[in-house]
Amino acid sequence: VIGRTTNPLVAFCRLPAMGTTATPPQMKVAVTAPGGSLRSEERATPRPGPGEIVLRVRCSGLCGTDLWKLQHALSPPGSVLGHEVVGEVALLGAGVVGFVPGDRVVAMHHVACGRCVLCRSGADTQCPAFFENQLAPGGFSEYLLVGERGVERALYGLPPQIGDEAAVFLEPAACVVRGIRRAELPRDGTVSIVGAGAMGLLHLILLQVLSPGLHVHVSEPHAERAALARRLGASAVSSSPTDAHRDIDRLSRGRGAVAVFDAAGGQAGLDAAFDLGGPGSTVIVFAHADHGSVAALPINTLFKEERRLIGTYSSGITDQQLAYRLLVHGRLDPTPLVTHRLPLERCSEAVALAQSGHALKIVFTSEAA
Ligand SMILES: [Zn+2]
Ligand SMILES: [Zn+2]
Repeated sequence: VIGRTTNPLVAFCRLPAMGTTATPPQMKVAVTAPGGSLRSEERATPRPGPGEIVLRVRCSGLCGTDLWKLQHALSPPGSVLGHEVVGEVALLGAGVVGFVPGDRVVAMHHVACGRCVLCRSGADTQCPAFFENQLAPGGFSEYLLVGERGVERALYGLPPQIGDEAAVFLEPAACVVRGIRRAELPRDGTVSIVGAGAMGLLHLILLQVLSPGLHVHVSEPHAERAALARRLGASAVSSSPTDAHRDIDRLSRGRGAVAVFDAAGGQAGLDAAFDLGGPGSTVIVFAHADHGSVAALPINTLFKEERRLIGTYSSGITDQQLAYRLLVHGRLDPTPLVTHRLPLERCSEAVALAQSGHALKIVFTSEAA
């Protein structure tokens, strides 16, 4: 890093950790506004404490969870959302080793402790430490503080071959990887995905990479999304439940789907997923539902057909490392899902676009004009 200071003696030296900084005192953020949108605001740029890092955000993804929080007013007004972040190391706190200013990295908001009984039994996304957000104020900001545990356990350095728009999918891809791991899929057979939004399509891409022997069926009524699912390699895409049953029957030669991923959410998504599964199949619940909502499942089908129903939430280190390796080795390319690139100032427009259904992945980027 080339320092900029008023002292000519240190004007062009490499800065020590905690040294003079090139970060501005104020930064732009997008905050939650009443009425379920975002608006642009100025905040003080964070400074790193011991073990922490400040990133300059290069790219951050607008996620279904952010939209869910906005729509249901789950975060108080003035909150900074965003947890899919590619940044550049700007400031290092005391004692941080292994990173230098300018390094491009992906940081995680949820980072488990790795030591407690939940972590050790594989339920690391239920670890109490997991819910202490490691990103402050949040991804929708110009600069971002990464907490000590986030730096220590889950800061992923990016080699030059991974672009920002691929790397921004590390977090969502890790969530999908977890669901696929939890599903314990067979080598061959037919799986189905309910909903071809950004996350449903990310399932489609990852299932082809991780389980190439499977046929992947997709249910999606929206014509444009259905067409993209076909282009991305779906074995069949159906627009109605009747068509879905027929297509799955054909692909599986009457066996039925061995697993159905509910990427639509709510009671309707779960009902659709359960309905499409065959005997012995697994339904993977991946999406949000309204608070307190209840699904009605035919219990005897669950019992007599030995169905499995599993939830999958967020991602752990194992899932992140697998998604990271796939990205680094060029086996995973989620970039076709990016439909819009906007600067942070256009945050309210981004939310409107996402809610209109005419966008898949929207990313905020510091490079967009
Ligand atoms: Zn997300
Ligand atoms: Zn733990």
